[in-house]
Formats: sequence, structure tokens, C-alpha cells
Amino acid sequence: MNWIQKKLQSFVDKAKQTFKRARPSKKDQADSMWVNCPSCNQMQLREDLKKNFNICKCNHHFDLDPKTRFSEMFFDDGEYELIECPEWADPDPLNFKIGETKFIDKYNNYKKKTGQQSAILAAKGTVNGLKIIAFGYNFAHGGAALTQREGEHLIAGIQEALNDKVDAVVSFYQSGGMAVTGNLNSLKNMPVQMMAMQMLKKAGIVTIGICGSKVTGGTFCNVYGNDFIFAENPKNENLLFAGKRVSASVNKGQELPRDFGQASSIVEHGMIDGAFESRIEIREKITDLIRVLLKKSEIEAKAESTSNVKVDIPAVS
Ligand SMILES: [Zn+2]
Repeated sequence: MNWIQKKLQSFVDKAKQTFKRARPSKKDQADSMWVNCPSCNQMQLREDLKKNFNICKCNHHFDLDPKTRFSEMFFDDGEYELIECPEWADPDPLNFKIGETKFIDKYNNYKKKTGQQSAILAAKGTVNGLKIIAFGYNFAHGGAALTQREGEHLIAGIQEALNDKVDAVVSFYQSGGMAVTGNLNSLKNMPVQMMAMQMLKKAGIVTIGICGSKVTGGTFCNVYGNDFIFAENPKNENLLFAGKRVSASVNKGQELPRDFGQASSIVEHGMIDGAFESRIEIREKITDLIRVLLKKSEIEAKAESTSNVKVDIPAVS
């Protein structure tokens, strides 16, 4: 290393140290009363953001936990009944270890942090008078990665939907996919859920999937089991099977489009049915859609029963 390189290296090291000190940690950011919006780069009070359902003035949508969503902006009068996760459902049948840490310890910390039985919050209630079962994926629960436990929780909710003959099942997705810690125990969630969604369709129950940001891997595949799929906002990002870095690495030499995996782009390419302007309008718009779909199936059922009627036509002599 010559003197120029040495000088340059010491400058880079000093710059790194300075920026490292200046950048707040994740914990500092979470504890701060101020939030910086990554879209408009404006600071705002966390309290103000909360009052607007975590939507910035520029319409950037921050994550929203399922409990707040269900009680403050989805179910009628904020009332709903929780669907329990089966106690026997094991999140860690392989006793997985991440370095020196047991996965089950990490999982129990996620439970404590979110106050949920699994990464899914499953609830039953009415929305504008319609009987709905809703699933909310909580990204704060280990990236809402699906272990065997989340899979069984979803199945318990779908079973309840079939028993109760609800009008619709609405899923609010935000998840990194199937948990690698579960291997096949996690991957089996994909075919099982697809089959369960088919059973809902056969029973005439409308299924609607709504994607927040960060819906990837196996969860992004399972979204396609729904009758209709929407993004909650055109700016939602990372709606894709594999992340941008992985996708770019298999596309050597080709730069990915800037809007790769963004809701507006995947709507344009016909991969999902549409994007809402804001999460505030979801409740009204989907209940309108469900009413139209229920009416349609009612008309189709009537038409089918009429076509099966045998009419005896008297013979003309
Ligand atoms: Zn903003």
C-alpha cells in the first residue's frame, strides 16, 4: 500500500466512524417521538402519525399492526372475537438453532413482544353488517415467517369460516414467507392453504387478499389462492417472490427497473387486481365488492336450479 492509498484508507475509516455514530440504532428509532418518512424525508411526531393510521401526509404507508387495524379501522364498532391458535401446533418441531440461540427462545420473544399467539391475528366479526373472518400478518413477529404454528392457526380460522358460513375471508398480508427453520413443516403450509382456500370457494365464501409492503417468498405465492388481490397503496414495495438482490443476481448484466416489486408496477403487469389509494378506503370498498360477488353467486345458483327443472311438455297429437 503506497502513501496515497494509506491516506485514502484513513479518510474512509474516519468517514465510516463518523456516519456510524451519526446514524441512530433501530432501538433509538423505535423509542424516538419523531419519525422520519423515507418517501418525503420529512420528520413528524409519532403521535400524529398514529392518529392517521400510520399514513404520512405524502401518502407513504408505514406498517400497521393487526390489532390496531382490526379495532380502529376494520370491524364494526371495533369489536371482534379472536380465533384461538391450536395449542398443540409447534413452531419448532426440528429444535432449530441459530448460532447459539434456540429458535424457540426467539419465537417466544416475538410472542411476548406482540402479545399474539402466533404471527397471525385471526378474528371474526362483522364489517358493515357482513360476516367476516380476517387474518392479519404481524411483521413485528419475526417477519411474520410462517412456521407450522402459523399454518395451523390459519387452518383453524378457515375451518371456523366454513362452519359458520361467513360471507368472506379477508387476509391482510405482510410476511417474509415460509420460515426456513421449519423446513418441510413450514413449506407444507403452501399446498395446505391452497386446498383450504379452494374449500372456501366451493362453499361460496368470497376470499380477498390485501398486500401491505414486504410480501415475499411462499406467502406471495399463497396470495394467489384468493378470488381478488389488492395492494393497500400503490407505493407498497417488495411484493415479489425473491428479493431485489437475489433477482438482480440471476439477471446478471441487466439492471432491474426502479419500480421492481412495487404495487403500481405489478398492477400494470396484471399480476394483481388493483391498488387502493389508501388503507382508509379498504373497509368500504371491499364490502361493496363482497356484496356484488355474493349477489352474483346467488343469481348463478338460481339460474342453475332453474335449468335443472324438468318440464313435461305434452305431446302434440
Ligand atoms: Zn412522507
